[in-house]
Amino acid sequence: MQSPSVRVHAGNGMSSQQEALSARCPRVTVLGSSSAGNGTLVRSGATSILIDCGFPPEYINGQMADVGLKLSDLTAVFITHTHGDHVNQMFVRRALELRIPIFCPTDIELHLQTQYTWMARASHRGVLRPIMNDCTEVGNCLVRTFPVPHDSAGGCFGYSIFSESPLGMKKVTVATDIAFATESIIDAVAESDIVVIESNHDLEMLENSGRPVWLKKRIRERGHLSNDESADIVLRAIDRSSHVPQTIALAHVSQQCNTNAFAVQSMRESLRKLDCERVTVAETFPFTRSAVFSISAGQKHETGVSCYSDLSAELQFRKTVALKQQTSLTHKSTRLVYDS
Ligand SMILES: [Zn+2]
Ligand SMILES: [Zn+2]
Repeated sequence: MQSPSVRVHAGNGMSSQQEALSARCPRVTVLGSSSAGNGTLVRSGATSILIDCGFPPEYINGQMADVGLKLSDLTAVFITHTHGDHVNQMFVRRALELRIPIFCPTDIELHLQTQYTWMARASHRGVLRPIMNDCTEVGNCLVRTFPVPHDSAGGCFGYSIFSESPLGMKKVTVATDIAFATESIIDAVAESDIVVIESNHDLEMLENSGRPVWLKKRIRERGHLSNDESADIVLRAIDRSSHVPQTIALAHVSQQCNTNAFAVQSMRESLRKLDCERVTVAETFPFTRSAVFSISAGQKHETGVSCYSDLSAELQFRKTVALKQQTSLTHKSTRLVYDS
């Protein structure tokens, strides 16, 4: 891999004008992340999207209150896969009451309906919604779906959230529960401004753990990324990006086979190889929210690589298609069909 040289246009002290611009860019908060539960809040203007709902509604409501929001402020929820740490039944019931749309790929919707028969009601009421295209427009965001290898029924997916801002089109990518790197994951992480990616285990700690052999094999081959594998995805993504992400948040960190310190150290050491030490590597936590990750107007880290693809043109095209094929997707829409 030929490493791009990174040019840093930086300024740590932002002017008030820059601060005002940054405030209108997307912000990300990981409400909690581990094998016990996952949920990531992405806000852009009045749009609030929750990626995964693996906690009870009371927990998510409490964490959202910390950033001045409540559950009913959610514009939509997107589910990555059917494992219990990503879909909480009580949360889905609450979303049904509040009529918050929950999006997921068709196979995940079918699996949820098979596993929990009452969820057919959520589909019937238009709350549980299959993703019909790989791009879904929600409020002022466009959410792009990409496949992720993981051993869950109905498949596993990651999401890139695009939104226009005064600083141009911004991209946030969230991907956890990744068995191994794929081109589509690397492409999704490329050109992102904020990345939430799993850094599940330290390989040595996993091997030395008291876990049964079959479980270690499952985690390594069909389950989750090690710290090194996570860093490898980020490096390969930067290698094909015109700029580096401002923040990389490390999620789904194993409580038995890893530590936040190991995960952060591994990612930082890898970034150093690309001369990218100024990228913020952030921690997430199992049962409390992370810091709020925002996009700074005062910093731009260019790699010297030309844009991997003509993202703006591609998005404009996709947006036009999405607009034609879908109705308004906010849960306040009067076009929703309810059976009561
Ligand atoms: Zn998980
Ligand atoms: Zn999983």
